[in-house]
Amino acid sequence: MRRIAIINQKGGVGKTTTAANLGSALARLGRRVVVVDLDAQANLSLHLGTDLASGEPSTYDLLLGRNSFADCLKDTTTAGLRLLPAHIDLSGAEIELASAFGREILLREALDTWEAASMEASGEAPADYVILDCPPSLGLLSINGLAAANEVIVTLQTEFFALQGISKLVEIVQLMRRRINPNLNVAGILPTLYDTRLRLAREVLAEIRRYFPGQVFSHPIRTNVKLAESPSHGVSIFEYAPNSPGARDYLILAREIMAAESQDPELAVRELPVPAVEQLEATLAEMARPARASKNRKTPAPTVPTDAEDPDLPTVVLTPPAAPRVEADASPQPRPADLKPADLKPADSGGPQGRDEAQTEAATHPTLTAICDEPAPTLVSTSAPAQDPSVELDAAKDSSPVATPSPEPVRPESSYNFAPNSGAERDHMPTRSRLGPLAGKGLSGPTAN
Ligand code: ADP
Ligand code: MG
Repeated sequence: MRRIAIINQKGGVGKTTTAANLGSALARLGRRVVVVDLDAQANLSLHLGTDLASGEPSTYDLLLGRNSFADCLKDTTTAGLRLLPAHIDLSGAEIELASAFGREILLREALDTWEAASMEASGEAPADYVILDCPPSLGLLSINGLAAANEVIVTLQTEFFALQGISKLVEIVQLMRRRINPNLNVAGILPTLYDTRLRLAREVLAEIRRYFPGQVFSHPIRTNVKLAESPSHGVSIFEYAPNSPGARDYLILAREIMAAESQDPELAVRELPVPAVEQLEATLAEMARPARASKNRKTPAPTVPTDAEDPDLPTVVLTPPAAPRVEADASPQPRPADLKPADLKPADSGGPQGRDEAQTEAATHPTLTAICDEPAPTLVSTSAPAQDPSVELDAAKDSSPVATPSPEPVRPESSYNFAPNSGAERDHMPTRSRLGPLAGKGLSGPTAN
């Protein structure tokens, strides 16, 4: 059973949209999927048509030990997709659970119990995928998500501030792996809200790929209004607008994630239904058609280009069922599914080597360290990181890479510097600067100590 946490401490970067639509896509491709709403705003639950009445079992009751995982599950309108819904009550959970014993692993234990019961009863895991939609913070609920997961997808919006705060998130994942969950792998970095019309978005996408070489999913999720509309109808994109670019992008993402199923010991030995490749190929081709037709309109419409028109989007190659995969012809990097845990770090990162690990963690992760070691966690809201002292980076103690001259040549097309430089500035203040005269002075990309 693959357990995938969708995380980024920023809000509005497509986590919930990804949880709902990736979950739905996997279910449509024959997988048994559960999506878990770990956000008190319950956006995922509402997106999938569930508005819990007070008293109905939710994530909150699960974490408090009042109900089992199975008790809380609800069916959705998509066959094969179930939801563990959230309720506004969850907003109090971080405080209520502050002194609970083993508070970081409550969700993991609930999941383990559910899985073990199913294995005992039927010899089979109760689901193929559990997708955990984390809230926009690095507090106890996100820690529970990361502790329960064995894979992480980091969603990054392709906007100017994409990499702001990313080093903190990277460090938290690494710390989780060291302290609580050594099995945590990186499924990949997922660029979202990608507006193909904007040069800025293309440059940010290139920067993300340069910053995390080989770790970025081959196909970004494009900005598509149908994805923004579908939550208000309480259904996934596949029911609301199955031929939209949004549906296509999430289907491709699901295929890319499924390509790594052989790495999961349980799924590898199970006989999973194989989606009809020809049919899927035809569906994808059909989906691409309206965008191509729009080229002939007299008034230029702001449509999403097809893959063929957009050099940033890779060609989708659908191979026979045994090895479903998506290949990027533009980028020869290994696919995210092939990555190993240690891979989630900025390119050329110096890392914390040569330093006392505990000291480094205490210095740079007061919040998580508190959660791991102290009786009560410090709750963190990172919606406004610059004002929140608990997420401030201490530039002097920061073990992350600092700027050195980039070995890369200046890209003539590029007008911005998105990559963080160092320490606090890297996290909170991406510098907008013209390249050219500044190139080679530490402003052109992520670099090492
Ligand atoms: P998060 O869970 O990270 O806070 P959401 O998934 O809720 O982010 O997305 C924030 C907003 O952006 C929502 O209104 C959502 O409908 C919209 N949105 C997300 N992804 C897309 C996309 N690819 N295209 C258009 N709108 C999107
Ligand atoms: Mg959300």
